[in-house]
Amino acid sequence: MSQIYYVVDAGVLFSPWKMDIKDSLLVTTSNIINEIRNKPSKSRTETMMILERMLTIDPVSEYITRAKDAAIRSGDISVISDNDIELVGLALMLDEEEKMVVLVSTDFAVLNITSLMGLKILDPSKKFEQEIVWGMRCPACHHQEKTLRRETECPVCGTQMRRTPLKKRRL
Ligand SMILES: [Zn+2]
Repeated sequence: MSQIYYVVDAGVLFSPWKMDIKDSLLVTTSNIINEIRNKPSKSRTETMMILERMLTIDPVSEYITRAKDAAIRSGDISVISDNDIELVGLALMLDEEEKMVVLVSTDFAVLNITSLMGLKILDPSKKFEQEIVWGMRCPACHHQEKTLRRETECPVCGTQMRRTPLKKRRL
């Protein structure tokens, strides 16, 4: 059974949100940890690390660049912090390492960018109202795939497929 990597921001770390404890791990960046000023929160974080329920991993720059590009495309770049861009980059890097990744945040820009990149998201506040399930659609032959990868060639005709909302659902 694969372990789920919950990529979390500082707000989520100390929210009442409870992860599915079994086979799951909280992951964040060292810059997010550095945002934590509150002493009880700091010591809780340290305890979780000692218990191996939590890890800090910093994405390599390639993934930060890709997250920033995604934020530009979605129009969120002006409202997202550098630390949050880095967090999205971390989720992307882990996903490409074939990890089971869920990004947990209550920040709409973070949720939107991550969702637009085809990664799994979770909003503990449930205020991110529109859930969009993205797939790929071929602009030439209209073939659709449930795959959430970008830059996928159409298996029917070889044309570059594009992201398309397969399903929108208001929560
Ligand atoms: Zn096609």
